[in-house]
Amino acid sequence: MCNICGDAQHDPAVSRRSFLRTGAAAALAPLIARAAMAADPPKPGAAPPPNAIKPADALKRLLDGNARYAANNPTERDFSSGRAARAQAQFPIASILSCSDSRVVPDLVFDQSPGDLFVMRVAGNIVTTDLLASIEYGAQFLGSPLIMVLGHSSCGAVDATIKVLKDKAVLPGHLPELVAAIKPAVIIAEKTQKGSLLDNATAENVRRQVARLKRSPPVVQKFYQDKKIDIVGGVYDIATGKITLI
Ligand SMILES: [Zn+2]
Repeated sequence: MCNICGDAQHDPAVSRRSFLRTGAAAALAPLIARAAMAADPPKPGAAPPPNAIKPADALKRLLDGNARYAANNPTERDFSSGRAARAQAQFPIASILSCSDSRVVPDLVFDQSPGDLFVMRVAGNIVTTDLLASIEYGAQFLGSPLIMVLGHSSCGAVDATIKVLKDKAVLPGHLPELVAAIKPAVIIAEKTQKGSLLDNATAENVRRQVARLKRSPPVVQKFYQDKKIDIVGGVYDIATGKITLI
């Protein structure tokens, strides 16, 4: 007897298992369909997806968009047009691993439209297993030709790491895990004499995350080595709105 619905035939545990199976299958369906599509040779005469562009062209679109944003001259957009098409599929031109900082908004900073950017955000823009999985999904199943790790000026996560190292500050909760991931960048930056430690550590952290992605098997490393994607780093200046590639 089910103690939830009262049905003598109904075993809630079986029902839950069946729901989980159905739910998991439904969630994986687009992924599997896409994998099958990726494995199939393109049909003769079929139009390539709109994001089948060179990584360098994707980067140019991002930098051109950033120039428009920094000049306060963003593209006028009609958000309702294209909604029906976006409901069918997405074709992002770049995957962005950005800091969570509320002042850094990748879609605005690069002046791109819904569907253009596949964005991952975490304080300190560090590569974690979950984020790497998302980046892999973007590369393999969405065809995103470019990955950019985006740090920024006045980053609180990098600053907190400096305070932990220099002042022995003690942070609550799970923040020490975040600090541990950024710490190697600060230690390297401490050896640099020129510029501020915060700026140098921020840039170094971006470089380290880019390097980590380039050697992250099996998906990202292979796509990078096969030149299907490029992986770059940038730092966003909150004061000017401009991004500098590093
Ligand atoms: Zn930050």
